[in-house]
Amino acid sequence: MNLHEYQGKEILNSFGVEIQRGMVATSPEEAVEAAKKLTEETGTGWHVIKAQVHAGGRGKGGGVKLAKSLDEVRDIAGQIIGMDLVTPQTPPEGKRVHQVLIAEDVYYPGDSEPEEYYMSVLLDRAKGKNMIMYSTEGGMDIEAVAEKTPHLIFTEEVDPAVGLLPFQARRVAFNLGLSGQAFKQMTKFVSALYKAYISSDASLFEINPVLKTSDDRVIAVDSKVTLDDNALYRHKDYAAMRDIREENPIEVEAKAVGLNYVDLDGNVGCMVNGAGLAMATMDLIKQAGGEPANFLDVGGTADAERVETAFNIILKDPNVKAILVNIFGGIVRCDRVAQGIVDAYKNMGSIDVPIIVRLQGTNADIAKELIDNSGLDVQSAVAFQEAADKVQAVLA
Ligand code: GDP
Ligand code: MN
Repeated sequence: MNLHEYQGKEILNSFGVEIQRGMVATSPEEAVEAAKKLTEETGTGWHVIKAQVHAGGRGKGGGVKLAKSLDEVRDIAGQIIGMDLVTPQTPPEGKRVHQVLIAEDVYYPGDSEPEEYYMSVLLDRAKGKNMIMYSTEGGMDIEAVAEKTPHLIFTEEVDPAVGLLPFQARRVAFNLGLSGQAFKQMTKFVSALYKAYISSDASLFEINPVLKTSDDRVIAVDSKVTLDDNALYRHKDYAAMRDIREENPIEVEAKAVGLNYVDLDGNVGCMVNGAGLAMATMDLIKQAGGEPANFLDVGGTADAERVETAFNIILKDPNVKAILVNIFGGIVRCDRVAQGIVDAYKNMGSIDVPIIVRLQGTNADIAKELIDNSGLDVQSAVAFQEAADKVQAVLA
């Protein structure tokens, strides 16, 4: 699950990371109220208005703007709230902005040398370790830094069983070229950031930029956070941060009805029982010259109702040109699944795309007969290859 910048900052702050303070607003009036409160707390009359959407590169797309007065706060918030923000990381049509973060301006006017660094903590699955990635070249596109000046990106591997050791945090501060008070602040920053990452069961915490002010404060100005969905059961407060407006609507709907569905870019819809068979089926589709439109594991109970729900979800994707149903009947008998498919099909009236059904396992022969005699636009297959050939034929 991804978080908004302001939510990531809340978590960071709760673990002692110094952040650029701010408040969320959903209207220009709320934005002005937030700015007034922030001025009381921080003393600064300047604020940045930041679009809260799950996408980076907002600055470039006009989603981050500086306001030097309350009138400007109102105007800019009015422009940003409700806009479809287009950045290199959004779909071409952009993402609708529902809320903005009103944040204190931490780039002091006249500060001649604010330094912007890049820092992230992430999981290195291949090494089985956590990794702190950091660079002196913050604020900008880190992918561009990685491409043009890879020697300016440092990494620090952290053994999850040992945790971050003090010398490692010092090495980070040293490699960033810091000394004195800034060095101390940076080691504190790195330790607190790592603690936030571990304690929240995250797979990513990215802070770009980390700002060092001329008076040696080290502040998280931005945050991009991904939490592990499988650990959310032990973080009820973080689970409540989910913003489904930012997520794929078909996936949200599938989740609500208990289906394990992931939307993909292809043209062949899949309905499969078991994650392993689902993976194999996706390979099968590729070999047949198609591209899977989704990953869908219907689980153990493939009865008529569940099959119908799954068909409905798959058909929400306009790119689907054919559906491959690949079910292994072990505990659930193939003839019952076949009956379920026939019933679901009839109940739905008509389905506009061809369906290929492969049922294998207990009573597969009876199931095939049921499908073949149904009179519906459903083709049956028994062998894997046969199913692949039939998918290829309908796509041709
Ligand atoms: P992103 O573009 O989505 O990564 O959004 P960021 O939160 O990183 O903000 C983009 C840029 O806005 C930063 O790199 C800063 O240069 C600038 N910015 C952010 N906060 C402030 C601020 O308090 N004052 C000023 N003057 N600029 C800021
Ligand atoms: Mn950023």
